[in-house]
Amino acid sequence: MVREQFQMLINGQWIDAKSGKTFESINPATEQVWGEFPFADANDVDDAVRSAHAAFESDEWRLMTASQRGKLLRKLGDLVGENKEKLAQLESKDNGKLIRETLGQVGYLPEFFYYYAGLADKVEGETLSLDKPDLFGYTVREPLGVIAGIIPWNSPLYLTAIKIAPALATGNTVVLKPSEHASATLLELGKLALEAGFPAGALNVITGYGLPCGDALTRHPLVKKIAFTGGSESAKHVIRNSAENYAKLSLELGGKSPNIIFNDADIDSAVNGAVAGIFAAAGQSCVSGSRLLVQEDIYEEFVTRLTERAERIVVGDPSHIETEMGPMATASQLAIVERFVDVALTEGAKLRTGGKRADIQSGWFYTPTILECNSNNDTLMQEEVFGPVAAVIPFKDEAEALAMANDSKYGLAAGIWTQNLAKAHRMIKGIRSGIVWVNTYRAVSASAPIGGYGQSGYGRECGIDSINEFTQIKTVWINTSSEPMADPFIMR
Ligand code: NDP
Repeated sequence: MVREQFQMLINGQWIDAKSGKTFESINPATEQVWGEFPFADANDVDDAVRSAHAAFESDEWRLMTASQRGKLLRKLGDLVGENKEKLAQLESKDNGKLIRETLGQVGYLPEFFYYYAGLADKVEGETLSLDKPDLFGYTVREPLGVIAGIIPWNSPLYLTAIKIAPALATGNTVVLKPSEHASATLLELGKLALEAGFPAGALNVITGYGLPCGDALTRHPLVKKIAFTGGSESAKHVIRNSAENYAKLSLELGGKSPNIIFNDADIDSAVNGAVAGIFAAAGQSCVSGSRLLVQEDIYEEFVTRLTERAERIVVGDPSHIETEMGPMATASQLAIVERFVDVALTEGAKLRTGGKRADIQSGWFYTPTILECNSNNDTLMQEEVFGPVAAVIPFKDEAEALAMANDSKYGLAAGIWTQNLAKAHRMIKGIRSGIVWVNTYRAVSASAPIGGYGQSGYGRECGIDSINEFTQIKTVWINTSSEPMADPFIMR
């Protein structure tokens, strides 16, 4: 098989790693090596950060008006839309995500660039109502500097768009570090950013492993903010690294999101929502509805219907449009899924369907799996699997559903299925999570903030809030009095 060769983007130039080292990317559906990428180490990271820093300080970027930055983002959105097919196919080959998901996700991606293009020249400070008659005060929002974007393998383009669009809109510059398992589309995005007219160094993409590349990037003294999406263990390293450079942090981590089905729910809709919640992207989504809490009087009917639908899921080649579930993105992720299912069975969970590798010759495929748990304390109810494994449990009433939903170290998302508006509102108020979906699941929008409570992270991406994440406030004081300054030792 012909291997595609990739280079990194630093300061507008396409280059190899200084060491000359490379690493391989494997297509999860075929287990064939298809691409070779530069293995960046601390030296390459330093070049990339310095290039982003120089771009940040340059007159070309510093003096560019906010509306002009908005125009560049709009152009980038247009280019992403025009290259939708190519980007979707590349992402599918790199991480095994279904082509029909990547087409949908990439098709919507321009909206994120347009949203922040529109906001770029609306980032405003405030005049202050000071309690001092001779002083006039106002605030301005200013960019932070170099932003490090650490991107995981599950949805690289989407998770990058929601970081770079607000970061660039507000005048920062960026160094991106994709996962070593899914680097290709971010390099392609870098190409489109140059074509859109972003100056050299405004967006850099370096490829490599968490160690040494991600580590060197997140501790680099010139990095002013780290926007991280990934697992909790890597997040701990990143938090520690930010103690070196005092970088601002936003963390979008995992979850064990409850999808709660009440007895008055529209069952057809709830079954579809549960399937989309856990089996879309083969469960490799931070917002997966991986804990299914089902009211006891509809429990058996619901689980039976869910099982029937899960058994009809077409598992196979992600590049085929009729396929409904693709492979695990990495061999190690497949091993993690197998381990969690073993633990669940050992703890007494009852297997309704799945629980094994899919019968496909090559590729890291696992069957859609449903396990009935006995207690919310079971490992499968508490730990994130990041695979197509639904943990199902019955509940008696609203109070028990809420208690179980909140009995988790995570708090990223929750789903509520009911026709009763008052009940929905009571649940919304009680649930501790950053996102609540009612009678729907996994909807996203450029204008809707995403982020977690508890160990699901902190900071928000998307929406207007994200502008605050990528800016800092400068407070300005102006003396409007013609009188000489008073005694300097008096603080007034
Ligand atoms: P990681 O957290 O390891 O990967 C996320 C990103 O962080 C990757 O770019 C990774 O690089 C990078 N990274 C790893 N170590 C460091 C470090 N010390 N300093 C800086 N960057 C680092 O996710 P995994 O791929 O290992 O997946 C582990 C688990 O994380 C999954 O099973 C899942 O539970 C969760 N996860 C959650 C995601 C989400 O969307 N919230 C996405 C992906 C995973 P590299 O990959 O090159 O090592």
